Amino acid sequence: MNKKSLVLQDFLFFITTFLIFIISISLVLTYSRKESDDNLVHYSEIVLALYDEENNDYSEVDKTFNESIDIRVTILNGSNGDVIYDNNPNYNQEENRLNEFLNYADKGIYEKYSLTLNEKMFYLVRSDDSNYIRVGILKSEVMEVTNNIALYGSISLILLNVIYFILSYLYFKKNIDTLKEEVIKLDSLVNPQSFIKDFDIQDLKNTMSKSYTLINEQINEVKSEKEKYEFILNNISEGFIVLDLNYNIIQINKYALNIFNKNFNEVYGHNIVYLYNASNLLNNIEKMDKTFKSFKEKIDERIYEFEINKITFNNINLIAILFIDITNEENTEIMKKEFFANASHELKSPLTSIIGYQELIKEGIIKDNNEIKNISEKTLKESIRMKNIVLDMLELSKLESKEVKEIERLNLKEIIEDIISSNEVLIKQKNIKITANLKDFYINSSFEDIQKLLSNIISNAINYNNINGEIELILKDNSFICKDNGIGIKKEDLPRIFERFYRVDKSRSKENSGTGLGLAIVKHICLNYHYKIKVDSKFGLGTTFTIIFK
Ligand code: ADP
Repeated sequence: MNKKSLVLQDFLFFITTFLIFIISISLVLTYSRKESDDNLVHYSEIVLALYDEENNDYSEVDKTFNESIDIRVTILNGSNGDVIYDNNPNYNQEENRLNEFLNYADKGIYEKYSLTLNEKMFYLVRSDDSNYIRVGILKSEVMEVTNNIALYGSISLILLNVIYFILSYLYFKKNIDTLKEEVIKLDSLVNPQSFIKDFDIQDLKNTMSKSYTLINEQINEVKSEKEKYEFILNNISEGFIVLDLNYNIIQINKYALNIFNKNFNEVYGHNIVYLYNASNLLNNIEKMDKTFKSFKEKIDERIYEFEINKITFNNINLIAILFIDITNEENTEIMKKEFFANASHELKSPLTSIIGYQELIKEGIIKDNNEIKNISEKTLKESIRMKNIVLDMLELSKLESKEVKEIERLNLKEIIEDIISSNEVLIKQKNIKITANLKDFYINSSFEDIQKLLSNIISNAINYNNINGEIELILKDNSFICKDNGIGIKKEDLPRIFERFYRVDKSRSKENSGTGLGLAIVKHICLNYHYKIKVDSKFGLGTTFTIIFK
């Protein structure tokens, strides 16, 4: 409420009380008029009863009224207008009252200035056969009560209004002062540059509405910052958890919740052990001598790198934990190590035997020409195997680096037929029967890759087959099937045959100049071209490879 409305409110209060006052005054006036009317009628009744008209005896009237100063009683002769009786001895003898008496006779109360009493009077005239009786009372008498009420009423009314105004002003000022203090605080909070120390009502209103807008903007800003922060936190591919010093979870992102298959409400405020068996994490936190520590931990077959940070936020000490799934990196690292160990081992053994043979020849320990020829054949075979290993390793590294190759439209049927004829010697040696059920089938690919893919599978079917074995090659409906009835692969070896250098039977592989990298190359080509590869094998019965092209 401002000052204007305070004044308006007071004005309304005044008008209301004034109206009530006026109504009360008029009610009192009406009542006192009625009272005086009743009195006049009553006095006239008494005069009529006391006056003996027949004998013109007004002694009883006189007895009753001659001492009444306030009541005037006059009896008039109706035929000549002479005053028969008047309780005021000073009445004017000369005044002609007949007309007045005739005019007002039995017509109710009327007002008239009395020349006798020099005052305004209320009169009532009653006719009594040939005479008239008039009773009158002082108007001032009637009005006195009303005047008193009006006077004291007005004074009380004004006093009441003044008190009301002062009280409401004090109340208003007290509230406004409190409000001002709060608004100044609010203003300095939302607008630190503000130097306002005092306001009028309009300023107060403006400041409040400005503060409202500012607060609203700031709330929206905070909201959007919070949303942004939550969005980022929930979309990073790292787990993020914040603990208090009692290890209770006070913040956790979606990634972390998904890993432990929990939802926010389930874990919020609970100890970290409620999320998972965090003994290792807690040990690490307890052993922290600096504000940062990192360690690796395996959880449900995945390896995570944990980073613990001791942080202070708003004077509260907290523990922030960030963890990343490093399973793939770790596995790649392990694979790399294994690969180098295997590769060096694979190359070392043929080299050792080559060097050994050459030393025997050099030292003259082996002199026999036939033996030397035999050793030369062996070292040549080992060298070819070494060369094959190196070529296969190069091939694998090319495939891994996704080197861009020339893509051609290739008929798989023709490539398969070429592979069969290039293996003709071995097929004949082992007397293997090949059934080729091939339809023309075209794909867009690098010739080199497709040739490698198919020849590795077909040569394995020949190499790991028995004498007089059989191979069925089918090319239809987007797929290539190579089915042999060879030695087969044991169930436990089957998942590992695509690993680098993995060979079920090392000596047999060596015999075939196998490198142990053929199927690793096959797997890589399929990965690069999104081909699907399946193996079915029964140990001792045979193996079927199926490749489904896109
Ligand atoms: P390798 O150079 O030794 O042939 P591969 O990677 O081509 O290496 O094959 C891995 C291993 O899988 C082989 O050593 C062999 O033990 C097994 N293998 C592959 N193909 C067949 C098959 N058709 N029948 C039986 N065993 C097979």
